[in-house]
Amino acid sequence: MESARMTQSEAAGEAILLDGKAFAATIRTRVADHVSRLAADHGIVPGLAVVLVGEDPASQVYVRMKGKQTREAGMASFEHRLDATVSQADLLDLVRQLNVDPAVHGILVQLPLPEQVDTGAVLDAIDPAKDVDGFHVSNVGRLGAGQKAMVPCTPLGCLMLLRDHLGSLSGLDAVVLGRSNIVGKPMAQLLLRESCTVTIAHSRTRDLAEVTRRADILVAAVGRPGMVTGDMLKPGATVIDVGINRITEGDATRLVGDCDFASCREVAGAITPVPGGVGPMTIACLLANTITACCRANGLAEPEGLTL
Ligand code: NAP
Repeated sequence: MESARMTQSEAAGEAILLDGKAFAATIRTRVADHVSRLAADHGIVPGLAVVLVGEDPASQVYVRMKGKQTREAGMASFEHRLDATVSQADLLDLVRQLNVDPAVHGILVQLPLPEQVDTGAVLDAIDPAKDVDGFHVSNVGRLGAGQKAMVPCTPLGCLMLLRDHLGSLSGLDAVVLGRSNIVGKPMAQLLLRESCTVTIAHSRTRDLAEVTRRADILVAAVGRPGMVTGDMLKPGATVIDVGINRITEGDATRLVGDCDFASCREVAGAITPVPGGVGPMTIACLLANTITACCRANGLAEPEGLTL
């Protein structure tokens, strides 16, 4: 895989920037190449179905971007937009239809879902083989058991960036800040699989800075702008900032991570920027998961380097 480093930072004595935007572009190119080969050799077009419920503006942006990048990679994109008042039964019916649709290899239900819907029940209704978000309990269990699974896109993207920058992660101290089902917990499982010594920290962790200062690898997935400051880092640490927080300054808004970029960059050895770090990797990994699911469904070899 092409390196994601921006080495000019080194000369300035600052952390290397891990360029997720550029790295994600190389993943999308590899996915597109594989899609072309699938069409030419087997007449197969991978398909991704995305289900959006309601009008949440951020979700609409994500779904639009996912559809655009899916089509650009040469895959089929199926978008299903449902009213915010949709019943759980109707949503489950749609998921079941997609489960048996041979043109659909990946299914993603955009979260969050409205209150009247039981999110866990919907996620668990998705065929685990088509569960490109990796949130089905079956895939969660498989990941934990070290078996072949569909791996959640954001942690998978973080792992790809870490491997690209560090090579072997074996024996490194990794701290994952945050224990959500979509980022923190699967991230910790992936790092454990890489033979890191893993600590999961959260809102009840005592003396957080003492914990984070032990980390060779720090993955911050908290949802609190600038919470991690440079003095909380071990010098030379590799920092993956998953946070996407919109802050308002006067009339303008901008995106910031969970790390205070200026102070962390002084101490870290490498760091992902926000935006342009983990965010682009997430959709690239969604495309990678879709082609992986398609290959598995058809008994074909999976593209190397795009999954575990
Ligand atoms: P989440 O479900 O809200 O989980 C946040 C975690 O942070 C929880 O485990 C919480 O601990 C912990 N936490 C909160 N305040 C803390 C504190 N003061 N000290 C220590 N831990 C604290 O969030 P998420 O869904 O994992 O998302 C986290 C961030 O990543 C958000 O900014 C989100 O937008 C972003 N994100 C980005 C991508 C991407 O593509 N780049 C994808 C997904 C999420 P408790 O469990 O104890 O409450």
